[in-house]
Amino acid sequence: MGYVIDPPPQASVAVAGSGDRFPIRRVFCVGRNYAAHAREMGKDPDREPPFFFTKPADAVVDAPCSVPYPPLTSDLQHEIELVVAIGKGGADIAAKDVMGHIWGAAVGIDLTRRDLQAEAKKMGRPWDWGKAFDFSAPMSAVVPVSEGLDLTSGRIWLAVNGDLRQDADIADMIWSVADHVAELSRAMALAPGDLVMTGTPAGVGAVTVGDIMTGGVDGVGQINVKIGARA
Ligand code: MN
Repeated sequence: MGYVIDPPPQASVAVAGSGDRFPIRRVFCVGRNYAAHAREMGKDPDREPPFFFTKPADAVVDAPCSVPYPPLTSDLQHEIELVVAIGKGGADIAAKDVMGHIWGAAVGIDLTRRDLQAEAKKMGRPWDWGKAFDFSAPMSAVVPVSEGLDLTSGRIWLAVNGDLRQDADIADMIWSVADHVAELSRAMALAPGDLVMTGTPAGVGAVTVGDIMTGGVDGVGQINVKIGARA
């Protein structure tokens, strides 16, 4: 038996300090996981169960990089996020057991076509066109948890052309990594290769052609992404 067309390449992301790569199965993203960001989006923060959306695995691109300014938007926005990489799958994972399922962590930018997302919200349509476009998830190399990562606190920040736009601490999450990965695993079985983008703090805003985004999560890494010419 063979495939009737060439199979697509395996999506993957770099592993820090290694020539190896982390293969990507799915990319889950948490919505509104920092209170101040929920407020800037016009919502009251609450402890309702977290909600999720997804990006295609091949939306992930290795940073440092240049990504094209995507089509159909005039309001491309940055969202700096801690990313966790699932190495061991499972369903109904207890929060206390989540760390045993995480292989590593990275720094990602959840690039968002905010105008298309706002239109989707207004029309009661899916978020995909706002969130799941090509090159929408630039990411730093994954650092293994075996290096002793702390995923409960640490500064998370992003600057555009050197101006600090987002500056918070991952301890400010409404749903901690352990809590929201556990919740996600109740909706569907997690599998090795899944990535979870854990939400962004306040300060999101627009970027345009030629802008350079620099960001990081203390103890995890830094990311550097330039917005290239329109696709
Ligand atoms: Mn996000």
